[in-house]
Amino acid sequence: MTQVFNFSAGPAMMPKAVLEHAQQELLNWQNQGTSVMEVSHRGKYFMEMITQAEKDFRQLYHIPDNYKVLFLQGGARGQFAALPMNLANNKGKALYLTSGHWSATAAKEASSFTEVDEVNILLEGKLEVGELDFSQIAAEYDYVHYCPNETISGVEIFDLPKVGSAVLVADMSSNILSREIDVSKFGVIYAGAQKNLGPAGITIVIVREDLIGQARKETPSIWNYEVQSKNDSMINTPPTFAWYLCSLVFKHLLEQGGVQEMEKRNQQKAQLLYDFLDQSALYHNVVAPQNRSLMNVTFTTNNDELNAKFVAEATACGLQALKGHKVLGGMRASIYNAMPIEGVQALIEFMRKFETENN
Ligand SMILES: *Cc1c(COP(=O)(O)O)cnc(C)c1O
Repeated sequence: MTQVFNFSAGPAMMPKAVLEHAQQELLNWQNQGTSVMEVSHRGKYFMEMITQAEKDFRQLYHIPDNYKVLFLQGGARGQFAALPMNLANNKGKALYLTSGHWSATAAKEASSFTEVDEVNILLEGKLEVGELDFSQIAAEYDYVHYCPNETISGVEIFDLPKVGSAVLVADMSSNILSREIDVSKFGVIYAGAQKNLGPAGITIVIVREDLIGQARKETPSIWNYEVQSKNDSMINTPPTFAWYLCSLVFKHLLEQGGVQEMEKRNQQKAQLLYDFLDQSALYHNVVAPQNRSLMNVTFTTNNDELNAKFVAEATACGLQALKGHKVLGGMRASIYNAMPIEGVQALIEFMRKFETENN
């Protein structure tokens, strides 16, 4: 089989070392003679595993002690609803900064549960983020929500929105643990696991303690931050296998040098690809340079037929899942933590050859 590099946006590739580790102990976990999938989530070994997983995750992201880390179900979309139910109960109003598909979808879902004001932070007609100073108005809202990495368009926001002392909430589904951040600047950070943390089925919520305990009473217990926090995220049976795989990813990242090292590698990978795109006559990336995502690199030949040919030929060469999202077309290379630089190099080599052949 030719070497495969998987550029899927999500569920995305996982570190090979993690999959091999899981494979090796699949049938006999912790010398129990069973797999991790078949044991009680309240058993000693499982509890030890999740305790260590949280410790490792906290270490990776330098999470301050006054934050809880919840491991929930329902994906990021579940959190789109959980957020207003848990947080929008004092002023009854939330501010959503929209920069693309996911932030807009989050705003729409939230509007079923609270009053929502939306501000489009993209400059008109461009994939470029404008001024992010909301400190004058943020106090009117229970929280200000944004999406620092728009997975579909490949727009990343590196500067923190200024919100004064208001609560800042971020959907980091596609860039969590990809670069260093100061967690203390956020009220809530959440992420579905299937891009940069592990497999689908588990969702991480980092929430500042003083924001816990304000949920409206009809909030489902599985999404009530107070209930889940008091129950170690186990008010019901958690997705045990996904949790286990995340624990292996965290350990692997620490062994690799942590988030600081990931950031360095992610910058190198993205730089290689954007530099190539910029000198090419065939491919175009239309995101403003300061908002180019380190995780999702979008490009197009501006010709649908040629794009389709590109995707088909790349797939045949082992470069998988490069087709862009259906709302945008073109191509997208998702290069999360697990993508080695060799994958980016192989992609560039293919792109160069394709360009020569199709000019
Ligand atoms: C993938 C993604 C989502 C949706 O995640 P689900 O876990 O499928 O609900 C939301 N936000 C962002 C930024 C994403 O990349």
